[in-house]
Amino acid sequence: MSVLLIEDDPMIGQSLVRALNDAGVMVDWIRDGVKGQVAIESSAHALVLLDLGLPLKSGFEVLQSIRNCGNRTPLFIITARDEIDDRVAGLDLGADDYLIKPFGFKELMARMRSVLRRKSQTMTTVSNGEITIDLATHEATYRKKTHLLSVKELALLHGLIEHPGMIFSRGQIEKRLYGWNEEVESNVVEVLIHALRKKFDNEIIRNVRGIGWMVLKHPS
Ligand code: CA
Repeated sequence: MSVLLIEDDPMIGQSLVRALNDAGVMVDWIRDGVKGQVAIESSAHALVLLDLGLPLKSGFEVLQSIRNCGNRTPLFIITARDEIDDRVAGLDLGADDYLIKPFGFKELMARMRSVLRRKSQTMTTVSNGEITIDLATHEATYRKKTHLLSVKELALLHGLIEHPGMIFSRGQIEKRLYGWNEEVESNVVEVLIHALRKKFDNEIIRNVRGIGWMVLKHPS
């Protein structure tokens, strides 16, 4: 599982990264709101931990922007006690939970598990109207064919069908497939796309020469 941490305080950031890594959770840590929002929109983390007081763009603005665009990634606000009113506003804007700093790591893990459990019961399938993937069973269905996908095939296809009609570069796709500290295998994107086309057919993923790959937009 991977978590996106958006927090500008180096002490809190470092200790959270260490504790989560020790618990087997991969963490991508970003320190300002602008880059944080890009990361939420371009990657597939299981959960986002969002500080409110951030450089360049506040946690609130980030939350508001992503929810307005329909991004439903589970998100916790991590906030200082003196921002307590903001906390309530955060829940109104669509945060899934909040934690008041300093908080215990055990509490964080327990709440994370409960939100992820809730989410996985409510949203197991994602579809663009033509391709449907079941995140719980790792199966994809396209033109009446259903196949089991590998973890990376699923991550790649999931990323594309969340934004049908949008072209993704190799770098953007790789970012989604790997943690930032992992080494990227060469040609991995081509290998995965080839495997998906073989399972379904060539048209499942379109290649836009010199730019990247996409799936088509389908009216639902
Ligand atoms: Ca802060």
